[in-house]
Amino acid sequence: MHRVTLIEGDGIGPEVVVAARRVLEAAGADIQWEPVAVGVTAKESAGEALPPASLESLKRNQVGLKGPVTTPVGAGIPSVNVGLRKELGLYACIRPIRSLPGVPCLYSDIDLTIIRENTEDLYTGIEHEIVPGVVEGLKVITEKASLRIARFAFRYAQEAGYSKVTAVHKANIMKLTDGLFLNCCRQAAREFPHIAFDDKIVDNLSMRLVMQPQEFGLLVAPNLYGDILSDLAAGLVGGLGLVPGANIGEGCAVFEAVHGSWPEAAGKGIANPTAMILTAAMLLRHLGEEATAQAVEEAVKAALREGSCLTRDLGGSATTEEFTEAVINHLHA
Ligand code: NAD
Repeated sequence: MHRVTLIEGDGIGPEVVVAARRVLEAAGADIQWEPVAVGVTAKESAGEALPPASLESLKRNQVGLKGPVTTPVGAGIPSVNVGLRKELGLYACIRPIRSLPGVPCLYSDIDLTIIRENTEDLYTGIEHEIVPGVVEGLKVITEKASLRIARFAFRYAQEAGYSKVTAVHKANIMKLTDGLFLNCCRQAAREFPHIAFDDKIVDNLSMRLVMQPQEFGLLVAPNLYGDILSDLAAGLVGGLGLVPGANIGEGCAVFEAVHGSWPEAAGKGIANPTAMILTAAMLLRHLGEEATAQAVEEAVKAALREGSCLTRDLGGSATTEEFTEAVINHLHA
């Protein structure tokens, strides 16, 4: 039996997390869930957005499944998502962007993975006001974190069978920060001579990604570009309702979809649970449950391919629950 910390999150989080749990149960995964809260729900119940007890649970179990958590824009609590990643040292974010059958989208032959550095860059949140009307934010890039993510990307490429790693940067303008990131990627590339390596400036890459995504296999990027490119790439394969993700550290891993809490849709039953179900499959694989992970992925694909029960984002009218049922039916079939 596996013990896994469970964070439902808020907005559409609870609906899609319940969907993923139901599918895992139907697939026979032997998991004991340990529910904890973070974010606005934790602030209300425990007085803080990132309660020590929630962090303790993740540190003890070393693995968690997490729904999205709302971060107020402009003011309010700092991002709990960024806080969690920093506190737990979840330095590598893995986002596989794959075409799925039966999904109306721009491309049907995409298999690319974005590896995003998760702990620094402009996401350190170090901002200050110099004088009224003038503020500064610090972009922090270190050799240690850049080398760590670059080596992780090459190892991942090797294991997943990608023949090329592309580093994403803007080192023509940010010569020191992105320059250091790029140099670290070049250093890691020399350690993996059997994997091809190139680099692209982020604006150029964005255009090529939209026009010819098949050119790319594995992208490694600093935090901000990785975040933006993840949503862009999700758009190529049918949207945020479909793309799973994982945050990996030395002693802990937290699995969460790319999408956010979509507060406007909360409680309406219109969220596509596919991203969270595929995220749960990544969790299963991490736990060593390869066969169950594959069964879950196949059931999702079968439900999408069959197409009679698609959610609104894919042009259908099925609810979150109805699509989940369809996946479970395919699991049993
Ligand atoms: P979002 O991902 O919540 O929603 C953007 C759009 O994507 C939605 O309008 C919807 O069209 C689509 N979408 C998202 N999830 C979907 C799903 N499951 N099924 C179908 N369509 C889906 O992004 P946002 O509106 O920019 O952010 C909302 C909140 O989520 C913010 O507070 C943000 O900070 C937070 N957020 C949290 C995480 C996280 O917890 N990991 C990640 C991203 C954003």
